[in-house]
Order: sequence, then C-alpha cells, then structure tokens
Amino acid sequence: MIDFARIQSLAESPVPPQKHLINGVAQASTNGASLDVFSPRNGEVLTRIADGTAADVDLAVVAARKAFDSGVWANQPPFARKKVLMRLADLIEEHAYEIAVLGVRDNGTEIGMALKAEPGSAAGTFRYYGEAIDKINGEVAPTGPNHLGLVLRQAIGVVGVIVPWNFPLMIGAWKIAPALAVGNSVVLKPSETASLSLLCMAELALQAGIPEGVFNVVTGKGSVVGEAIGLHDDIDVLAFTGSAFVGRKLMEYSARSNLKHVYLELGGKSPNIVFADAPDIDEAVAAAVNGIFRNSGQVCVAGSRLLVEKSIHGDFVEKLKAGAEGLTVGDPLDPVSDVGAINSEVQLDKNLDYIAIADDDGATRVTGGERILQDSGGYYMSPAVFDNVSSDMRIAQEEVFGPVLSVMPFEDEADAVRIANSTVYGLAAGVWTSDLSRAHRMIQKVRSGVVHVNCYGGTDITVPLGGMKQSGNGHDKSLHALDKYTALKTAWIAI
Ligand code: NAD
Repeated sequence: MIDFARIQSLAESPVPPQKHLINGVAQASTNGASLDVFSPRNGEVLTRIADGTAADVDLAVVAARKAFDSGVWANQPPFARKKVLMRLADLIEEHAYEIAVLGVRDNGTEIGMALKAEPGSAAGTFRYYGEAIDKINGEVAPTGPNHLGLVLRQAIGVVGVIVPWNFPLMIGAWKIAPALAVGNSVVLKPSETASLSLLCMAELALQAGIPEGVFNVVTGKGSVVGEAIGLHDDIDVLAFTGSAFVGRKLMEYSARSNLKHVYLELGGKSPNIVFADAPDIDEAVAAAVNGIFRNSGQVCVAGSRLLVEKSIHGDFVEKLKAGAEGLTVGDPLDPVSDVGAINSEVQLDKNLDYIAIADDDGATRVTGGERILQDSGGYYMSPAVFDNVSSDMRIAQEEVFGPVLSVMPFEDEADAVRIANSTVYGLAAGVWTSDLSRAHRMIQKVRSGVVHVNCYGGTDITVPLGGMKQSGNGHDKSLHALDKYTALKTAWIAI
C-alpha cells in the first residue's frame, strides 16, 4: 500500500545544492562549477549538482586506490563486508520514500514504479551480493599428484561505474553491490539528469560502515567526468550502462589509456512477437502496452517493436490503440498517473523528432506522439503507436528510448525470426504462443540476451541481464556479475 500522504509531504521539500562524495567527504568541484538540475515534472530548477572536472575524477581515483591498497575494505573477511552491505540494504529501505520521491523529482518515473524499482530493488541487490560473498569458493584443479593447482578469485582494484538516467539506483546497485561485495573500490558517475538518489545512497553507504574512499561519487557532464573516468590509467574496470554511442567511446578511451576492462550494457530495439495462437490475446495486448509505455518507454528492454501475426493484426492494433489511449499521462507523483514525465527536454525533443521521421517514412500513426500538458512546464508526451512499420524504416532500427511503439505484421514463424533479428541490437524479446515447441524454437533463434515467453519484461536479481550484438557485453545481476569484478588467479604449487 503506497503512502501518498507521505509522498505529498516530501514532494515540495527544498533540495540543497549537492557536492561530490570523495574520500568520505562532500566536496565542491575543484573549479567551483555547478549545474542546474531541472525537474521533468514541471521544468523548474530543483537544485544544483557539482559540475565535475578531470581533477575531481583524479582525486576520487586516488582516494579509491589508497583505500583499496590499504586493505581497509578488501581485506575485511567476507562476513564483515556482508554485514555492512546488509546494513546498507536496511538503511535504503528505511529511507525508501525519501530516496524514491527525490529520484522521481529528478528523473520523472512514476512513483509506484520508482518505489519498487529503485530503493526496493537496490536494497534487494545489496542483500543478494552481501549474502553471496561468503559462499563463493575458489577451486582446486584436478592436477597430478606432484602439483597443486589453486584457482583463486581476487578483487581487481578500482572500478569506474557510469550509469544512465533511467532507474539510476537500480542499475547503479547492479554494478556497485557486486563490485564492493568482493572488495573493490568504486568511483561512480551518475547521469547529469539523475544524480540525486545515488548521492543519497552514497551517504547511506558511509553510515552503513563502508570506509572512506571505498565508494566515491563524482557528478557532472559525461563529456568531462565520464571521459576522464574512461581515460584514467588507474581505473582497472569500467562498468557502463547507457547508449551504444557512448559505449563505443568508452572502448576507445580504454584503448587510448590502460586497456581497462570495459563492460557495456547498451540499448535495444526489442521485438515482442505475438502469434495468433497466443494463450490470451488481451493479456498480450496489456503486456505490450505496459512493455513499451511504462516509465514513458525509458526502459532498456522496452518492447519497442511489436511483431503481430497477420491473421490477428487488425483486431490487435484496435486493442492496442484503446490501451494506449486509456493511459493517464501526468505528474509522476500523482497516484492517478499511469505514465510520468520524459526525463529531459532534450529527450522529449528527440522523441518528437522520431515521430516526424516515422510520419515522413510512411508509417501509419494510430495514436499519440504529441507533446502534452505544456501548461505544467514539465516534459510530457502522449503514448504513440505506429502501424505498418517495415524493417528498413528508421523507427524500426534506431532506439528512441521514449513512448513510441512500432507495429510490424508478419506472415509466419520464419518471417517473425527474420524481422526480430533484423537490427543491430539484441537485448530482449518476447514470444506469445501456446505451442511449446515453437516457444523453444524461438528462444533458440531470436538473438537477444533474454527471451520472455507469454509475458514481457519480468525479471529478478537471480538471473543475468546482458545484451547480444550491439546491446553490449558482460552481464549485470545474478552470480555471473561477479565475473566482471574479480580476477581469476592460478597458484601452481610443486609438492
Ligand atoms: P547515455 O549513453 O547518453 O549516457 C549514459 C551515461 O554516460 C551518463 O552518465 C552520461 O553522462 C555518460 N556519458 C555521456 N557522454 C559520455 C562520454 N563521452 N564519456 C563517458 N561517459 C559519457 O545514455 P542515457 O541517455 O543516459 O540512457 C539511455 C541509454 O541507456 C539507452 O540507450 C538505454 O537503452 C541504455 N540503457 C541500457 C540498459 C541495459 O541494461 N542494457 C539499461 C538502462 C539504459
């Protein structure tokens, strides 16, 4: 049961100007600069964040390295680190409303979803990796009698983490929790349009007992702070979630600097495929609407391409239209809003540009695609459905990252697979069918990191999330994520 009275009381409280967190101390930028933070709810300035520089990144990396080398965190026994991470999870839950409301004022996600996906999921993630670390063993290799081969997993050192503006706390925790759990130090750069909830969490991490210098946050522009992290010679691993455009740059930065390991969780153009034998068409429609319009489509796994078998296509699109038009778009802190705000005016303009491109390319606009609620001063858009989209259209190929759905009719299973795989991305997919064999064939043939069957978008911390093709490399979540933050070391011992 959501406490809306509490939300209202937190909604208008002033937010003081924010600083970096370096070596356990809140610090202004070395050059004193700061950036306005605009709230997407109403377009007003919510607060200011420190506008970091390469010098600030360097201070944070020096602190992180010093903390790592001192062993103040890395050399604590796993059960001791576990206790601290559990305490952090508890603190996140105790402050869930403050964190979620602050995050919504910063990035525009609907409050119901934000409570669950942000503090809720972050707390669960810290608990999951806290619980895991004293249960992971090394290996003894099956060598002959004259040698002992030990395979050890060690913390790597300093991990740079760069995250986007959608679900910053959840996505941040997916990287920070496993990196810290195994003993690394972290330098985090949040998005300039969604830093506040992560700064709040970093303060709680100190309270929980993460030693100074182990978890640092530098805010500011991607082109400055992000680039400085990417190029830093003393960062060992870079864990990134964001666009493929920036992911490419990070690989270049690594090549130009110390060849740091770069793990990328990138964009998607995910196909949600509905066969005529779907077990429940109305459920498929509801999931398709939810799968693209929740959080205004600002979801990496959003089902932005809806492939519908020709025999049911007409009726399906009618139901989709009704579903999209039935959504209430509005203030993300208002309990009646199904869909909140677009994160920034820049992103809203990008979405509207794609609407014009799809119109020009000849897709059929069924509904939506307009800027709305302009009187509020905020960034809102009506959910858009395009029909008769073909694979060669830009709207079928490029990630919009907004509330824009492309419907693509298909003939048969082979046609569905061909269309589904005809983008450079491979993050998520959905398949709706009553035919078990077909479901398994589709799981095998669709090239994406996750395939949902007779549902869309559900997940859990216990399963990995990662992309194929240009949707990235490596995985967040599950025990597999620990691979990114540990080095395997062999000890070969003569007996
Ligand atoms: P973005 O790539 O523009 O920015 C992501 C982060 O990179 C931000 O912190 C930004 O400041 C920083 N950055 C920007 N330029 C940089 C540079 N030159 N060097 C280093 N860092 C730089 O992405 P966004 O608009 O914040 O987020 C949306 C994107 O994130 C979408 O493509 C979406 O699909 C993707 N995403 C992917 C996943 C996933 O798990 N695969 C999850 C969420 C979002």
